[in-house]
Amino acid sequence: MDNRYFGEYEQLVAEAGKFHGDICHGISIGTRMTMSGLKRIGIADPKGADRKKLMVFVEIDRCTTDAIMALTGCRPGKRTMKIRDYGKMAATFINIETGKAARVAIRPGRKPAEADAEKKPDYANAAEEELFSITEVEVPLRPEDMPGKPLRRVPCSRCGENIMDGREIEHQGATLCIPCFQKQDYYKSVTKNS
Ligand SMILES: [Zn+2]
Ligand SMILES: [Zn+2]
Repeated sequence: MDNRYFGEYEQLVAEAGKFHGDICHGISIGTRMTMSGLKRIGIADPKGADRKKLMVFVEIDRCTTDAIMALTGCRPGKRTMKIRDYGKMAATFINIETGKAARVAIRPGRKPAEADAEKKPDYANAAEEELFSITEVEVPLRPEDMPGKPLRRVPCSRCGENIMDGREIEHQGATLCIPCFQKQDYYKSVTKNS
């Protein structure tokens, strides 16, 4: 049995579980995802010496994302974690210094074999290639996607609200925010104060 990850895994999964509230399947596999992703891009100390070199794209708003957030220190508010809400158990880890990037996706239906003693899935020792498909990728990052001060802020021609970081769309001579362009939003107005 491959015990390479054991010491580190136990420590990391405890840290992620503390952040999340419990050590569920998503936290366990999210810990392994993080370990695999960071290893591929040569990041050893994500919250210390390497903290300015790392960016992560996550593809789901579930437990695995909490594990990645806890263990990498990447957060949406720091602009180092981008959420693409595809409902997929996958994440891409990027070393923004070298450009090296790896997308780690959970293989469908994979749960590790149970460890003998506790009858729990053995996340510590499951082989990486059993759990994940890992692809070396390139991620084009625009200057406005990077941490730091907003590079641009423009008002939407239709709703008047400000749009930051180049998310506006130029359409038929107008500058529009995404919902105004798409003519749909996630909410319906009930009252308005002005
Ligand atoms: Zn959970
Ligand atoms: Zn608008």
